[in-house]
Amino acid sequence: MEPYDVIVIGAGFAGLTTARELSTAGHQVLVLEARDRIGGRTWTDNRFGHELEMGANWVHWCQPHVWAELSRYGFTVESSDRAVEAWWHDADGTPKQGTLQQFMDLITPGQAAIVADVARVMPRGFNPLYTRGASDSGDAIADILEIDQLSLQQRIDSLDLEPEAKRANEAVWVGHANAPLDRVALSSALRWVAACGGHWELMHEASATYRIKGGTRALASAISADIRGEIRLGVRAERIIQPSLARVSNASASDRPAGSVADSCADPQLVTVECSDGAVVEGRYVVSTLPVNAIREISFDPPLPAAWVRQNQERVASQGVKVWIKAAGHLPRFFAYAHQYHPISVLKAEFYGKDETGDYSLLVGFGSDHGAIAGIDFMQLQEIVDQLRPGIKVLDYTLHDWMGDELSQSTWLINKPGQLSRDLEELQQSFGLVRFATTDNANLWGGFIDGAIESGLREATRLRKML
Ligand SMILES: Cc1cc2nc3c(=O)[nH]c(=O)nc-3n(C[C@H](O)[C@H](O)[C@H](O)COP(=O)(O)OP(=O)(O)OC[C@H]3O[C@@H](n4cnc5c(N)ncnc54)[C@H](O)[C@@H]3O)c2cc1C
Repeated sequence: MEPYDVIVIGAGFAGLTTARELSTAGHQVLVLEARDRIGGRTWTDNRFGHELEMGANWVHWCQPHVWAELSRYGFTVESSDRAVEAWWHDADGTPKQGTLQQFMDLITPGQAAIVADVARVMPRGFNPLYTRGASDSGDAIADILEIDQLSLQQRIDSLDLEPEAKRANEAVWVGHANAPLDRVALSSALRWVAACGGHWELMHEASATYRIKGGTRALASAISADIRGEIRLGVRAERIIQPSLARVSNASASDRPAGSVADSCADPQLVTVECSDGAVVEGRYVVSTLPVNAIREISFDPPLPAAWVRQNQERVASQGVKVWIKAAGHLPRFFAYAHQYHPISVLKAEFYGKDETGDYSLLVGFGSDHGAIAGIDFMQLQEIVDQLRPGIKVLDYTLHDWMGDELSQSTWLINKPGQLSRDLEELQQSFGLVRFATTDNANLWGGFIDGAIESGLREATRLRKML
């Protein structure tokens, strides 16, 4: 059989974008997707009688790649009404109610101070490693390298905030970072704000307000419908072999898996992919779209470049959970923050409905440790929710444990200190005939749908020049 021009591994937004761009340019493309659906870490699923986003939810017009796709396919966005109640913990850890304005007044000085140096350290959101004057000033380069060694917790600790304000600021950021803040690189926070031109209020809006009308599924389906090539669902890439590179790699024959195609007479100009269904397919190039945390589930021959192995072994910082809770009655529209180590650090009312049990509210929550929520029983969840906002009766809950999911092992990318400046450029480089498109190696909104699309466009453009 004729080899494909490009074999794309994964049908999340990075893979779908890569495949659409290359196939519409006339190249023969095959997409291999291990799940029985497209979308990857976006998944609009019907639960509790509603179309709920189990993964990504929010997009914004300051995210240029995803917004261009929404325009292209004629989609728009919608948002929930503004909250009328705010809850947070006082200095002793007791839930306290106030207005939205009171909460904003509490967090504003801290939020502004946390990212006060963003314009200096990250003047160009689209290139987080660019530092103004980098070409002619060694001092300037040092800014991002130095800042990247700090955790978000270190920055917050240095600000001398009052206990209540500190707790609230931490809870707000843990909602974004999806991990305890001592694991989180300050640079990850700065990236989000830099992408919003330095405006932290806009960053909050961009990352948690507008959802795609029709769901992320609608956008993924629209891109997928434009792919002129086969998408094989339920087929996992298990091994990627590059004979030409294997011959020149330092890996000794004994390091390579037995029966490696690298040792056979396979065409050195091609890359071979062995699949879970027994198929062996060949392409002139392969694009992997796997997240850093999951990529070593595929066996690479020769082995992956050092940056991928290193970051995969370290893991990225994010490790949390998103949970949908069905609660009795029509609750006022509220948001509630606890503290960063609470199993659910932020909870908000999102949708309302009525069934045989009467009125109900659907709440969405985020916590910094998936292990503290996945598999929990109702009594425990009720207690957790009581500590966020008293007066909620939990009826049911649902979630997808993305950290425990072998195919993702991640939620959204948040780096640990040092990872960004050490690895980003290397993660974007090609590896023989293999390319990497993933939100994890995007420049602008790394970790978001936007970053996935950016990475797909980048790799498709590079490959079009090669093919
Ligand atoms: C709970 C949660 C909330 C989020 N909220 C937001 C949000 O509000 N806004 C936002 O912009 N982003 C959000 N994100 C992040 C967003 O979902 C991701 O950044 C984006 O979807 C990643 O796209 P991707 O294509 O890079 O990776 P993925 O979507 O992970 O795609 C990789 C694909 O590869 C497949 N795969 C893995 N291994 C193999 C294999 N061996 N063979 C074949 N296929 C394989 C996977 O099944 C997957 O389909 C959220 C993520 C989560 C989990």
